[in-house]
Amino acid sequence: MGNKNKVAVSACLIGKNVKYDGKNNYNQAVMDYLEDKEVFPICPEVLGGLTIPRIPSEIKNGKVFNQEGLDVTKQFEDGAKKALQILLDNNISVVILKAKSPSCGYQEIYDGSFNHKVISGNGIFTSLALKHNIKVLTEFDFFNKK
Ligand code: SF4
Repeated sequence: MGNKNKVAVSACLIGKNVKYDGKNNYNQAVMDYLEDKEVFPICPEVLGGLTIPRIPSEIKNGKVFNQEGLDVTKQFEDGAKKALQILLDNNISVVILKAKSPSCGYQEIYDGSFNHKVISGNGIFTSLALKHNIKVLTEFDFFNKK
């Protein structure tokens, strides 16, 4: 058979400790799906120069602010561009992203109030990926097949 299918994935979904709190969002169903794929982990926030741990951020009116009110839009946009470049350089057309994140969320994101309220919208990286016709999935597209 030919090469393995290439899939990019939010690094936190496969257990990399890149979340704002230094932890991860390990998801067994995503891991199971990726078992026979060539996997490219990406974390747009870390690629944008943000630290681990970091102050959490949310999108408000198209810009990104951390919980202390600092505008981190540039870091998010830089990281999104770098993550996209990894996909383009490797001819990757599918990415599995962490739902609701200000970078990686798809179709719904937190509303900027830091109160766990969700509104419709995409993360900064997700928007860029969609503009380049990358297929976006989230962990909610996978179920543990046991
Ligand atoms: Fe996970 Fe994306 Fe947040 Fe990085 S930016 S921790 S990959 S959700």
